Amino acid sequence: MKLESPGILIAMRPFDEKNAIAHIFTRECGLLTGMLRGAITSKNKALVGQIGSATWNARLDSALGVFHWESERNLAAPIMMDAQKLSFMNSAFDLICTMLPEREPYINLYDKTVELLCALPHTSNATNEYVNWEICLLGELGYALDLTHCSGCGKTTDLNYISPKTARAVCDSCAAPYLSVLYKMPVTLDTTLKFLGKICSTQGANIPNSRILLNNKKN
Ligand SMILES: [Zn+2]
Repeated sequence: MKLESPGILIAMRPFDEKNAIAHIFTRECGLLTGMLRGAITSKNKALVGQIGSATWNARLDSALGVFHWESERNLAAPIMMDAQKLSFMNSAFDLICTMLPEREPYINLYDKTVELLCALPHTSNATNEYVNWEICLLGELGYALDLTHCSGCGKTTDLNYISPKTARAVCDSCAAPYLSVLYKMPVTLDTTLKFLGKICSTQGANIPNSRILLNNKKN
């Protein structure tokens, strides 16, 4: 089995002195895991944050694949000196590794991820960019936030709450009897973390530490 696609190198851990196990989030084939030979020793070092073209080969469907990786550029390079922006990148990468099934394409999320990485060096509101990326992730995982009108009565004003069950907006008057269970608008890192937590618990996974740290650090 051979797969080819543009991708982003989102995680890597050493396998031995020369080689690494890599996770590459590809546009056409989704999340792929495989051996990256010479990743640690070769002159053109593989680095997390690189965008490029991936070829993935596996002899059997279940076997660990082997990558050929051609990096085009390192999207992490412009934010290397910015701890906050780097923490957003790391959290996004860890969430992809934790929450997406392997070898299922998420083209929309891939494009959003490239958009986020390209926006981070220039934005003055990295939190906002990142929350929008997580809203996209939630949509891909079955929690599409609908904030355009009240899910109870349909009105489009006074939308100050969001339902944890449906991920839809609720207006002030419809919300009144349920204030203790509803989430408050606007959507923040706290809100998206709660939805991510629900999805992780149904998957039997833990929210990555890098994501939890975002909430601890924000004050
Ligand atoms: Zn309403």
